[in-house]
Amino acid sequence: MKISDIYSEKKSLSFEIFPPKKTEDLENIDETLAVLCECDPDFISVTFGAGGSSNCNRTIELAKKIKNQYHVEPVVHLTCLHYDKKEIDEFARVLTEEGIQNVLALRGDRNPDIPEKEDFKHASDLIRYLKPKEDFCFLGACYPECHPESENKIREMRHLREKVDAGAEVLLSQLFFDNEQFFKFVEDCRIAGIQVPIIPGIMPVINARQIKRMVTMCGASFPERFQRIIHKYEDNKKALFDAGMSYALSQIIDLLVSDIDGIHLYTMNNPLVARRICDGIRNII
Ligand code: FAD
Repeated sequence: MKISDIYSEKKSLSFEIFPPKKTEDLENIDETLAVLCECDPDFISVTFGAGGSSNCNRTIELAKKIKNQYHVEPVVHLTCLHYDKKEIDEFARVLTEEGIQNVLALRGDRNPDIPEKEDFKHASDLIRYLKPKEDFCFLGACYPECHPESENKIREMRHLREKVDAGAEVLLSQLFFDNEQFFKFVEDCRIAGIQVPIIPGIMPVINARQIKRMVTMCGASFPERFQRIIHKYEDNKKALFDAGMSYALSQIIDLLVSDIDGIHLYTMNNPLVARRICDGIRNII
């Protein structure tokens, strides 16, 4: 099933997971998958280690497991900055052979330790290259608070429009903590002529280490209400978990009662996170 077909009928519920390390059993993810699949998700997306990481094959193995063992549609993330056309052709061949139809086309993060190749500079190049050759449904990433490398909002929007014009049929958003930023972003997208479903990405904040990483990496703004929670509970693991989950649930409910196309949850492979969210929205979505 192609993900783009969902939206004529309903909002989507989806999850992101990452493959266990190569040294770990793939089965380690089963506890999380079992909980996620109880929620009857429309798809589960699997991240891809950028730049020749040996974990890439694991992405495909995990996607196969989701499809064949759990009977849920997988979306495979595919980055392009560190690959040439021949390598991308080989990934596409394997995906097609495995019956995987949905690809989140990404540029990938720059990494000074991994050489970039010449064939693909942006996610839109990857979509433009594969679209005439493969029968995939392409999804793309978007950034409600701008991509960290973005020069300005107008250029960022122009590039996003290019990605959609190239063939991205659904957009999955970077995480954010302020729903107003997301609502404004969707409004701007519609003004820019971007009409595809835009799915908000929500990541519950459950530990202090994760917060520090987010501040430096993704540039998401932290609303006052959220800062107060972090400040109050940063040294109390259990309380921070409860408060972080409640905050994420309140964000999700606010999004669901608004006119949005679905919810994409960054699970961090944590079955407790999946369980709390699923319990919290079981009768809502
Ligand atoms: P692009 O769409 O190519 O955009 C990157 C930057 O280039 C933006 O600033 C954009 O405005 C600019 N740009 C685009 N087109 C042009 C153009 N024609 N001319 C000039 N500038 C342009 N990373 C991973 O390594 N593995 C993953 O599995 C993964 N999953 C992700 C899932 C989601 C939902 C999101 C939001 C991100 C994910 N990432 C992942 C991170 C992603 O790879 C990085 O954010 C990366 O820096 C940008 O990727 P992109 O596909 O958004 O790039």
